[in-house]
Amino acid sequence: MLRDGVFDRRRQRLVDKMRENGINDERVLAAIGSVHRHRFVEGAFRPRAYEDEALPIGMKQTISQPFTVAYQTMLLNPRPGDRILEIGTGSGYQAAVLCEMGARVFSIERHRPLLARTRSILESLGYRVVLRAGDGTLGWAAQAPFDGIVVTAGASEAPEALLQQLRIEGEDDKPAGRLVIPVGDHRAQTMNLYRRLGEDDYERTASRNFKFVPLIGKQGGL
Ligand code: SAH
Repeated sequence: MLRDGVFDRRRQRLVDKMRENGINDERVLAAIGSVHRHRFVEGAFRPRAYEDEALPIGMKQTISQPFTVAYQTMLLNPRPGDRILEIGTGSGYQAAVLCEMGARVFSIERHRPLLARTRSILESLGYRVVLRAGDGTLGWAAQAPFDGIVVTAGASEAPEALLQQLRIEGEDDKPAGRLVIPVGDHRAQTMNLYRRLGEDDYERTASRNFKFVPLIGKQGGL
């Protein structure tokens, strides 16, 4: 059993590594430095929890690599009080990072057993996330609009439902809603950031490549 002090030092080294690798948003770095990633993986993987790698969480799914979480969060740029929807709850780690940044987090997961386990982990750590089982490619219309939506599985395209549930720039005097989504094929996906400037007006910026587990659903699945 590794003691908490060991994890604390490893977590700090992970933050240093994120910084070296180009994550320059101090709020994101502080959140990575706060969330106990070792609590989101099963016992056998705990010693590796602060390596910059994806790890298995059962049902052929993975907890995303810390760099990927940091990168997506940096693009999403959640402000305290922002309403953020995550598609693909998985381990709950990304949701916890968003909570640490003061966002109101909603998250959808299609695997019910995984969601049940994650719900109890998030609750035991005191993270308040509104969770739902289902197909996240359809979004969560009853809770829209969102200031940000982050998709943590690889898509073939940005689902129309998600684009339509973003806040329009200027609504309630707030900035444009952002959708952060990896888009590509089974081998690799390019990170895309959409900003909703008007009813049907989106700005899209593509950046670097990643490899995610596939998004499976009605819109934009792989
Ligand atoms: N954000 C997670 C990463 C999990 S991996 C974390 O921090 O650990 C991606 C997750 O997306 C998997 O758990 C998978 O089951 C889920 N997923 C795939 N397609 C989905 C869909 N259409 N709706 C909801 N969840 C989906």
